[in-house]
Amino acid sequence: MTKIRTRIAPSPTGFLHLGTARTALYSWAYARHHGGEFVLRIEDTDVARSTQDSVDQILHSMHWLGLGYDEGPVYQMQRLDRYQAVIDQMLAAGTAYRCYCTPEDLEAMKAAQEARGEKRLYDRTWRPAPGKVLPPVPEGVKPVIRFANPVEGVVNWDDLVKGPISISNTEIDDLIIQRAPEDGAPEGAPGVPTYNFAVVVDDWDMAISHVFRGDEHINNTPWQINIYRALGASLPQFGHLPVILGDDGQKLSKRRGAVAVSNYDEAGYLPEAMNNYLARLGWSHGDDEIFSLEQMVQWFDGTHLSKSPAQWDAAKLAWVNAQHLKAMPDAELAERVKPFLKEVAVDERLVGICGLFKDRCDTLVALANWVRAFYGDVQPRPEDMAQHITPTVQPALDLLATALQDVEWTAAAIGTAFKQVLSQAGLKMPQLAMPVRVLVMGTPQTPSIDQVLFLCGREKVLQRIAKR
Ligand code: GLU
Repeated sequence: MTKIRTRIAPSPTGFLHLGTARTALYSWAYARHHGGEFVLRIEDTDVARSTQDSVDQILHSMHWLGLGYDEGPVYQMQRLDRYQAVIDQMLAAGTAYRCYCTPEDLEAMKAAQEARGEKRLYDRTWRPAPGKVLPPVPEGVKPVIRFANPVEGVVNWDDLVKGPISISNTEIDDLIIQRAPEDGAPEGAPGVPTYNFAVVVDDWDMAISHVFRGDEHINNTPWQINIYRALGASLPQFGHLPVILGDDGQKLSKRRGAVAVSNYDEAGYLPEAMNNYLARLGWSHGDDEIFSLEQMVQWFDGTHLSKSPAQWDAAKLAWVNAQHLKAMPDAELAERVKPFLKEVAVDERLVGICGLFKDRCDTLVALANWVRAFYGDVQPRPEDMAQHITPTVQPALDLLATALQDVEWTAAAIGTAFKQVLSQAGLKMPQLAMPVRVLVMGTPQTPSIDQVLFLCGREKVLQRIAKR
């Protein structure tokens, strides 16, 4: 059996998009499921738009998601010699040819086709054919290289996601596989190959067995299959994943919200939750909603992929994140929340604080906000003060302050002292607990008051109770 090798091939023209992250996750999980390999390739042939900063961001997000690769990053711009060798081979074999059409020629061709109500396709002016006389090579025009696509027949493939697809060769033209050399490029310098060509040479050279990618590439696949055939290369299997729609039903895009993986990293989402949520956007394993990456690897065999677009649901992602936060061991959570608390000198209490608050938080940012209440100052809202710090409760707060002055500082002893004050003052638990929460944590809603007071520390608790 051929070795399973998958890849993710982002173009470094921006951050790692959620759609690309999902494709990366599926490709990675598929390789891991089969004991295969996963490759990262940087498709940087769009020289004007590719940046190192974008490469760095993509690598950072892949690392954050925990999608490790066995090979790469491979940069296409470092493989120009290889592409040139294949182009030369194709020119010699007649499966590629030089085209000297100028942009003006192509414009005129397009206008004439439009006027005739025809589809816009390159008219193969420069394609050699037996008995055909090519136009004279124009002075000063640097040629592009075009692929001699078969003129008839149908391209079929059984898509791993969409099922059988077939596109007639009459629908597609002879695409450009190598751009003309840049103006001012040294004599003999090769032009840069285009995506549809470089992707085939790379997937072939890298022995990629399964190509998962977004379904915006479905129209490119027939060309690619034809190029594989022209090269005598064996075909990978293709799986085209449906787009992810925003909650407004439109394609998820920057204009409509956060679409970079890094946005979610910064907003305090866990990579575990991000992977879990992305996995479910287009794939299912029974009714399982919350699972780990290890479980996904066990289950992800390329079946149960959805053919229809998934809809981004921010509320569901927050719920998934909350489930992972809740399930995480406290000590681990403490490590994860630290980067959100750079300005705070945390101590050993952090683990307990995380344990106490984790099931009330959707994100690490929310958890960090709770943690801050233990280390910095709190500012109770005047409305909460007015509502809860009433004349009836004032004497009980004094009693509590006295009791807490020399109680043994454990949650249990604090709890007992608290109850004694309640019975002395003739109050019920919430009548005193709510005001104490407002004073100590700045809000009437907190977990168990004895735990909160214990973790806050005697000195801070007494100072805050006094501030009223
Ligand atoms: N560079 C392409 C993209 O980012 C990759 C497409 C493919 O996976 O073949 O869309």
